[in-house]
Amino acid sequence: MAYLECNGLKRIFPGKFTLDLSFDMGENELLCIIGPSGSGKSTLLSLLCGVDSPDEGRIILNGSDITDLPIQKRRIGMVFQDFSLFPTMDVAQNICYGMKNISKEDKDRRTAELLDLVGLSGFEKRSVHNLSGGEAQRIALARAIAAQPQILLLDEPLSALDAPLRKRLRTVIRQIHDETKIPMIYVTHDREEAFAISDRVMILNKGKVEAIGKPQDVYLNPPNLFSARFSGEGSVIPMSLLTEDTSEKLAFIRPEDIKINKTNPGENYIILKDAAVLSSEYITSGFFVRLSYKGSELCCYASSEVKSETVDLAVRQDRVLCF
Ligand code: ADP
Ligand code: MG
Repeated sequence: MAYLECNGLKRIFPGKFTLDLSFDMGENELLCIIGPSGSGKSTLLSLLCGVDSPDEGRIILNGSDITDLPIQKRRIGMVFQDFSLFPTMDVAQNICYGMKNISKEDKDRRTAELLDLVGLSGFEKRSVHNLSGGEAQRIALARAIAAQPQILLLDEPLSALDAPLRKRLRTVIRQIHDETKIPMIYVTHDREEAFAISDRVMILNKGKVEAIGKPQDVYLNPPNLFSARFSGEGSVIPMSLLTEDTSEKLAFIRPEDIKINKTNPGENYIILKDAAVLSSEYITSGFFVRLSYKGSELCCYASSEVKSETVDLAVRQDRVLCF
C-alpha cells in the first residue's frame, strides 16, 4: 500500500479554478511537484496539511484517513517560500517549538543534532533577524523536522534565494531527506531543481496531473505534449515534415536529437535539407541554435558557432515523439 494516497481529490473555487486529481507516493520518497503558476500546487499542499478542506475525495496517510483531521493532529511539516520563523524567539527556541514532552537536556541535544544536520552547528543563540535568507530556510527546515512529521511539505522553499545558493541548498535538502528518511513533497516552478533532486516528479496543469514518474522517464517519454514542453526544450513541428504522415499529428523533438550537417548520418536519421539558421547563442557548453524549416521553428545544440545561413539537419528517428 502507498504511504500517501490522494483519491479523487477535488477543490473547487467556483468560476475560478478546480483542482481534480489522484496520485500516491511511497514511503521515503521525495516527490517534486512542478507546474506553471496557478496550476494548483499550493492548493494541493493546503489540502494535504489541513489549512483547507477538499470538496470531494480522501487523503490517506500512513494507513489513516486524515481528510477530516484538524491541522494540529496531522503531524505534517511545512516549509514555505517566505522565511516564516518566529521573530521573537532565537534559533534554538524556534527549533524546539514543535518538540513535545521531552526534557530540557534532550531538547538541547536534539537541537544541536538538527543544527548539525542543516549545516549550522553553533547557531543556537543567534537572533533570527541576523540570518541570511539561506540560513533562515535551513532553520525553518530544522524546525519542521524537529516536530517529527509523518511527511514534510515544502512550497517553493528556495524561490527567494539567488541561483548559486538555490543550487547548493537543493542538494542539502536531498541529503537531509536521505538521512532522516522523512517523505517529502517538494513544490517548485524550477524544472531543473525538480529533476535534480526528486525520486519522482509530478507535472500539474490547470489542477490536473499531466504526468508522474521518474525524471528521466518523464523527460524521455512524456505522456502528452504539455509534459514534453514543460519538462525541457524541444521543437514542435507537423509530423508530415518528417514522414509521409498526412494526419494533423505533431512531432516533438529534443534539441540533443537534432544534429547539424552530420556526416554519414545512417538509417536512423531523417534528413531535413536547407533549414535556415535564425540564431546561434553561446551557452558555455556550446551553442543553442534556432532554425526555420518549411514554416516551422526547430532548435538544437551545436559544438561550435554556426556561421552559414542554411544547414542540413539530421533528426534521430527513434527519439521523435508523436502527439
Ligand atoms: P500555484 O501554487 O500552482 O501557483 P495555486 O494553488 O496558488 O497555484 O492557485 C491555483 C488557482 O486557484 C489560482 O488561479 C488561484 O487564483 C486560485 N485560488 C487559490 N486559492 C484560492 C481561494 N482561496 N479562492 C479562490 N481562488 C483561489
Ligand atoms: Mg504556489
